[in-house]
Amino acid sequence: MNHLLSDRINNMSTSATLAMAAKTRELKTQGKDIIGLSLGEPDFNTPDFIKEAAIQAINDNYNSYSPVDGYADLKDAIITKFKRDNHLTYTPNQIVVSTGAKQSLANVAGVMLNEGDEVILPCPYWVSYSDIVKLYDGVPVEVPTGIETNFKMTPQQLEAAITPKTKMIWFSSPCNPSGSVYSKEELEGLAEVIKKHPNIFVVSDEIYELINYTKNGHYSIAQVDGMYDRTVTVNGVSKAFAMTGWRIGYIGAPEWIARACNKMQGQITSGANCIAQRAVINALNASPSKVQYMIDEFKVRRDLVLDLLNEVPGFKTNVPDGAFYVFPDVTYYFGKTLRGKTINNATDFSLYLLEEALVATVTGDAFGDSNCIRISYAASQEEIKEAIKRIKDAVS
Ligand code: PMP
Ligand code: GLU
Repeated sequence: MNHLLSDRINNMSTSATLAMAAKTRELKTQGKDIIGLSLGEPDFNTPDFIKEAAIQAINDNYNSYSPVDGYADLKDAIITKFKRDNHLTYTPNQIVVSTGAKQSLANVAGVMLNEGDEVILPCPYWVSYSDIVKLYDGVPVEVPTGIETNFKMTPQQLEAAITPKTKMIWFSSPCNPSGSVYSKEELEGLAEVIKKHPNIFVVSDEIYELINYTKNGHYSIAQVDGMYDRTVTVNGVSKAFAMTGWRIGYIGAPEWIARACNKMQGQITSGANCIAQRAVINALNASPSKVQYMIDEFKVRRDLVLDLLNEVPGFKTNVPDGAFYVFPDVTYYFGKTLRGKTINNATDFSLYLLEEALVATVTGDAFGDSNCIRISYAASQEEIKEAIKRIKDAVS
């Protein structure tokens, strides 16, 4: 009966990260000992100081619809966070709280794109960008990067990708899936190009902001001179605060874009979950040092994964500066036959690892880069060690 469904949904791919997570759950239920390194989800519990605020909110009878764009005191906490961490000044009408950064991104696509508008996506990009853009009749324009340039787009590549139809550029830094972090200077370089095109806007996805191992830390493209009015800064609490299931994300944006997102959300979901919003006030008002223990542990795991992968033949990795993924180039295996199975591409390789090593990863195809696979190290050190041992055995 699928032909009775809309073209819109029939043309959409299933989220590869969520599909792999579902497959992992299914295989585990069947008793298979799968190690899941596919999903980008911290394996920590939400910190107590955040949970307590949610319990308090339930007891205080927060049970009514919230304002569509978020509680005023949550927006104040977001404004304070932007000022404190990013030196960005917003007013309440420039902030919209949503059901996860994913909804924030969908809102922006919905309010900015007309049919045929092009959105530049440096590859690899986060799995959902391309389908969200297509859902709203936009055209994703992929700009391939590669491990040689640490998976970062250069100003020259950006310039070459711009056409009269370019409406937006979407990217994440720290990047899911490559872990690359754009420096201030690199962002300034991209901004020089963007500023030559007054009708191009940027979506800067900064959800991994705090999971950054560089000594210079995070920089937002909206901080670059002339970019504030052209940038929607997307952020959320899923990653650094271990709150994936709470579903809160937000944007800081030019007021006309924020108002449009508010209108869009008012017709689709209304305000985000009220208990979660109350808890996020505590998360954002706290000093980022309160979650440093998780970031420190992610860094230890990053180093562990890189060390261990170094001993696996055919895995070429960059040094990810943030987030909790490595994105090895595995082209070495293409055309080879392992245990009677021919590996033609990254999808075959990722499936091979699932079937033969019982380790779940995600094919780079889902992120617009067919040379690589994504390994999430948001897993315990024991799981990481065992997973890479199994991978090594399976490819030997
Ligand atoms: N952007 C990136 C780069 C992500 O990795 C994720 C992870 N889910 C999201 C957005 C969406 O996050 P959220 O859980 O806030 O919807
Ligand atoms: N962002 C995470 C990932 O890339 C969660 C999954 C999702 O939201 O698609 O794995």
